[in-house]
Amino acid sequence: MNILVTGTVDERLHRPLQLIANLFFEETDILLEEENLPDEILKVKLDIQANSVIKVKMALSAPDSAKIYQSSVEKAADPTQTEKEYFKQVKKAVSHAFLEVLQQYTGIRQQWGFLTGIRPTKLLHKKLRSGISKEEAHEQLKKEYLITDEKIQLMEKIVDRQLTIVPDLYHLQNEVSIYIGIPFCPTKCAYCTFPAFAIQGKQGRVASFLGGLHYEMEKIGQFLKDNGIKITTIYYGGGTPTSITAEEMDLLYEQMYRSFPGVENVREITVEAGRPDTITPEKLEVLKKWNIDRISINPQSYIQETLKAIGRHHTVEETIEKFHLARSMGMNNINMDLIIGLPGEGVREFQYSLDKTEKLMPESLTIHTLSFKRASVMTQNKDKYPVASREEAEEMMKLAQDWTAAHNYVPYYLYRQKNILGNLENVGYALPGRESIYNILIMEEVQTIIGLGCGAASKFIDPETGKIERFANPKDPKSYNERYEEYTEKKLQILQQLFCKKQPA
Ligand code: SF4
Repeated sequence: MNILVTGTVDERLHRPLQLIANLFFEETDILLEEENLPDEILKVKLDIQANSVIKVKMALSAPDSAKIYQSSVEKAADPTQTEKEYFKQVKKAVSHAFLEVLQQYTGIRQQWGFLTGIRPTKLLHKKLRSGISKEEAHEQLKKEYLITDEKIQLMEKIVDRQLTIVPDLYHLQNEVSIYIGIPFCPTKCAYCTFPAFAIQGKQGRVASFLGGLHYEMEKIGQFLKDNGIKITTIYYGGGTPTSITAEEMDLLYEQMYRSFPGVENVREITVEAGRPDTITPEKLEVLKKWNIDRISINPQSYIQETLKAIGRHHTVEETIEKFHLARSMGMNNINMDLIIGLPGEGVREFQYSLDKTEKLMPESLTIHTLSFKRASVMTQNKDKYPVASREEAEEMMKLAQDWTAAHNYVPYYLYRQKNILGNLENVGYALPGRESIYNILIMEEVQTIIGLGCGAASKFIDPETGKIERFANPKDPKSYNERYEEYTEKKLQILQQLFCKKQPA
């Protein structure tokens, strides 16, 4: 869809307009010039008057309708604030008006309003920490972003739950969590853009990668020990951390206990055993030996044709079998992931997956909504992967909500992604008391998370100012193997600046 926007248009508005248009149409182009226009085009006239009150008027006309869709928004603003802050207010008012005209024209109601960020609950935490009441925060989210009551209530439930599970959530800035990325998988799934390299025949590369990872663990661990910094949680992701051998896992966890301070007291250690085809009794023995608290075994779907279509070369039976195996070997905190809207799947298929889940009752269940990441095989070959409509995706999400509530699961974290089917969300549910602390910490950005290994993104949060600095390790094992020392050094420098500030004399 092409949309021409004329009137008082600042170049900086191009991106927010584009993001909002993408909520309604596939592959939108926002045009700001009236030259060489295509025939099929929506025309939007924008008028902004910005003083102590920001007044935005918008009118949309379409070739397939005689009607003019209009919106008028007024927002009080402080003209003495910085230019950047003031422009943010203008951007919000324009986004508000744009959402309204597009909702009128398409008849689609966006449940998340014009909020395009990925962490809605962080916004709610921020409002509550500023001292306003829950009711006020609710009203503000509704007014400021046009989020529906239903989605705000979901955010409220989640925030409440997070503060119950981690009562000191707002005071963990002097501790850190650790993310360890293992970039290998048995095969690559069609929707995946994670650093995940098919492991078959890459034994040499795996060995060098693990050498680099052991080095990183040792150096970072030493820094934490030297500076008395506690670790809150540790998370092994990837890729699939159980795609390496049982012996390699054993050595890795031994290194973890040796290098990191107080591993016995870390609140939670998770290992994603995402692909059931990587789980063996020997690997489960190793996980148990090193007191790994939580694992993930991810079915994504219980429909065999779907698994085949998305490139997951394991069977549904294998998922169930490996779940029972893990249980029988004492793993008593298992997460499972399901994805809404996988190719060829609708309400019936999703219900089937929920019925199968009922027989297993994992401690936590994460419901993802399919997202179209630009680099994935699926997005690049969209015609080969037919997916559910927006309405059907919404129905499936509702089904997930009702099913989890009926089975005593509570929602405890939430995030959104760009180009997510139906502009929905991903929600983590857990039986009470079995929520993942790491998932809460990473979503709410309350402390530094140090990323080690391939593709691991570190997020450094200044314990005093809350300022965030990101730093990513190389995504492919080859570059990682060549440069891990340099990357470790850079992380140590950032940690030094953040955690070893000189006390004033
Ligand atoms: S198992 Fe996970 S990380 Fe590996 S290819 Fe599939 S989606 Fe990507």
